[in-house]
Amino acid sequence: MMFWFGPSFVRFLRNSVVLGTMLAVAFGSLRGGSRPPETIRIGIMTETASVTMGPGAFLVREGADGKEHRLSWGDKFEVRVAGHGVLLGTKLLSGPVVVQPLTPDAFPILNGRSYHGGLEFRRAPSGRLTVINELPLDDYVKGILIHETSPVWPFEALKVQAVISRSYALNTRGRHGKEGYDLCDEIHCQVYGGRDSEREIPNRAVEETRGEVLTHEGKIIKAVFHSCCGGSTENSENIWEGPALPYLKAVRCRWCRRSPRYKWVAEVRLDSAARKLAAGGSDVGNIRMLRVLSRSRSGRAYRVRVAGSKGAAELSANAFRILLDGRVVRSTFWTAVSQTRDSWRFDGKGWGHGVGLCQWGTKAMADAGRNYKTILHYYYRNVKLERR
Ligand SMILES: [Zn+2]
Ligand SMILES: [Zn+2]
Repeated sequence: MMFWFGPSFVRFLRNSVVLGTMLAVAFGSLRGGSRPPETIRIGIMTETASVTMGPGAFLVREGADGKEHRLSWGDKFEVRVAGHGVLLGTKLLSGPVVVQPLTPDAFPILNGRSYHGGLEFRRAPSGRLTVINELPLDDYVKGILIHETSPVWPFEALKVQAVISRSYALNTRGRHGKEGYDLCDEIHCQVYGGRDSEREIPNRAVEETRGEVLTHEGKIIKAVFHSCCGGSTENSENIWEGPALPYLKAVRCRWCRRSPRYKWVAEVRLDSAARKLAAGGSDVGNIRMLRVLSRSRSGRAYRVRVAGSKGAAELSANAFRILLDGRVVRSTFWTAVSQTRDSWRFDGKGWGHGVGLCQWGTKAMADAGRNYKTILHYYYRNVKLERR
């Protein structure tokens, strides 16, 4: 996903996971038998050698048949793969192993970070350790918000982010199914930091929008977003391959002008660009010329052609931007492109792909008193806000 402040916001390496049924039983009984909350499985550590768990008393289930143990540790202990099993401290168990606190107000601590729900430890095909955090969906959303938006933004903007992060998660869940979990905890899916990433007001935004998602024709939408559109959002099919989506349509946005990235200039050295193009499969040799072949109606570059000493390549402007470095060439909304002896200069607007919701526009609309529903329906067309 796009993020608001940049890769410095990315925190890698978090860990944990739990068990659906156990959780469901625990939470179901706590709530007097009401429907258990939907849970989601997040890969928080992958391909790691070992992790450290905090002390505590846990219900531990091992192996395919889920044989149960009640185990407690008075001190920290290490978890690692041992043969085809998993070693918890000195206790060898068959994998996968699921660890759940014995009381609902206790939280497992993994490498010093605390998590809702439970943790699952499993052997990755490489023989290293994967840790999955299985937890109620809205607890997951609470662990996302400070990474994907700013906790000091207006409350209605936080509610917007809660709805779209929840919708995006449900729309994309399962993309890591082969690895044994639904979503990862990095920018590829959404950045998630467990309980330590929670703040009081963002949590309230999640609670006040409990279960709310955006749908189109009954299906939860792919609620993509970006930092700043630069004056107009973009049709999804102009940025990514695939069919046009009726809810991801370009809309004019006069709201995001106060973003620090509303306008920017980027310089890219031609020798570095040539290397990156070659690494991406378009070796044109020494670069001679860049041409924007076509533009979308919003004004973004759509296709580009790069000519060099060995030949020429045509590619989508967005793929070209990412190949160069999406943190430098922040969007394809170029108002001018020029070339000197050894570099290109891009004058551009906005930050991110420009599809879906504009976060800085959202902030300004919320500052101006618009509520979260109005903002959501402004950026996503032909959608319904529903509670699932
Ligand atoms: Zn991912
Ligand atoms: Zn905007």
